[in-house]
Amino acid sequence: MGKARIDEYIEKHRTDIENMALDIWTHPEGGFQEHRTADMQAEYLKKLGARVSFPVKCAPTALVAEYGSGKPVIGFLGELDALPGQSQKVCSHKEPLEEGAYGHACGHNLLGCGSLAGFAALMEVMREENICGTIRYYGCPAEESFGGKTFMAREGLFDDVDCCMNWHPSGDDAVALTQSSAFELMEFYFTGTEAHAAANPHLGRSALDAVELMNVGANYMREHMISSARMHYIITDGGVAVNIVPGKASVRYAVRAPQIVQLQEIVKRLIDVARGASLMTGTTMRYEVKSRYHNRLPNYTLSDLVYENLAECPWPEYTKEELRLFNELSETYPEDQIQRRYAFHGASREELWNYMLRRPLKRGDKTVTVGGSTDVGDVSWITPTVNLTVTCCPIMVDGHSWQACAAYGSTAGAKGMTRAGQVMAWSAYDLLTTRQDVIEKAKQELKADRGGQVYTPVPADMKPSFDAPASQ
Ligand SMILES: [Zn+2]
Ligand SMILES: [Zn+2]
Repeated sequence: MGKARIDEYIEKHRTDIENMALDIWTHPEGGFQEHRTADMQAEYLKKLGARVSFPVKCAPTALVAEYGSGKPVIGFLGELDALPGQSQKVCSHKEPLEEGAYGHACGHNLLGCGSLAGFAALMEVMREENICGTIRYYGCPAEESFGGKTFMAREGLFDDVDCCMNWHPSGDDAVALTQSSAFELMEFYFTGTEAHAAANPHLGRSALDAVELMNVGANYMREHMISSARMHYIITDGGVAVNIVPGKASVRYAVRAPQIVQLQEIVKRLIDVARGASLMTGTTMRYEVKSRYHNRLPNYTLSDLVYENLAECPWPEYTKEELRLFNELSETYPEDQIQRRYAFHGASREELWNYMLRRPLKRGDKTVTVGGSTDVGDVSWITPTVNLTVTCCPIMVDGHSWQACAAYGSTAGAKGMTRAGQVMAWSAYDLLTTRQDVIEKAKQELKADRGGQVYTPVPADMKPSFDAPASQ
């Protein structure tokens, strides 16, 4: 039976896959710099006999591996990048591996290798059972910063995909049915005229004044936009010396809104605010869009199938040392936070502390949006995409923290990763064999959710950025 063979494959290759994930964790790389990580995965997949495209034209660290032929085409999404300044050892106190260095505090070392494990296991079973259809592993760079998937989407790499498996390491097992926010990252550059700030200030035109006035305008704008939208900014260049009227200044904005159309409306107004600031100060302004993500559309049809498989997948057996690490990491949080977390999940301390919590598949208002953003959103507009989460850290631990980085570099974290691979491979096996009807239904659901809107990729002239990242 196919599913049992998937389990056997994963069991047989568990050490290799875990070692790869932990090796990537030890050598974290930033967005669009994941050369070592992508290289390692590409080599692994080539050895298995997959058709590997690496690098892909649109981004130097993106890779696509493929097996099989014809329809349906099922994708497995993997991620590769780490977060700046999040370096951490596998231990229960804050201690970086290397001060200030990157760290896998979002667990993309597990995310990529878990999806790869699912792809590899299914590939073996398709070969053995002569199953028709195509499977693809997408190694996607720069999720945390500039959105590798948006460039891969612009390249048309997802256009023929019938549905996509996606997962994320987490503190519990679930299939997420919420949207993520649409997101745009922009940099505004102002150019003025330098002058001696004391002797000839009347001859100067301050680019920093323009930045400050733009920020004032944006802050006034907040009252007159939908309350679920967000704007955050940092000044990336504020001049070089106080006695020189700044001739150059820049500010970086992140804008979020539940729907892509709402985002576009706010961004348009923000550009007008920037234009106003340049008029007021006698400076010139130009802007660059660094990244743009669509809101993620959940798909109930596909989620139901994956949830069935998640519910059947056995929990990992943790060693005493693994449990001790998870417990100690949990205890690093103040008691009131721990209590709040119990209340949120409606679970007892014991239930939360045995790391076997599966959240019910809760259908509700499909338009409910969670605060963060992800480039998975773009894929979810093109093809039905599932968002599985699998336990790889204690439930107390939130992503992008030193505790998360410690958990995602541990053997306990890696056990969750191979479970994710199993669940996704089982689900894709169902879709290729007995449950092809689900694909059509999932596509119809997506069509209804798009409501006549077409997916608009990032602009043709937008290039992957390599400068300082902004976490999503
Ligand atoms: Zn993240
Ligand atoms: Zn992540």
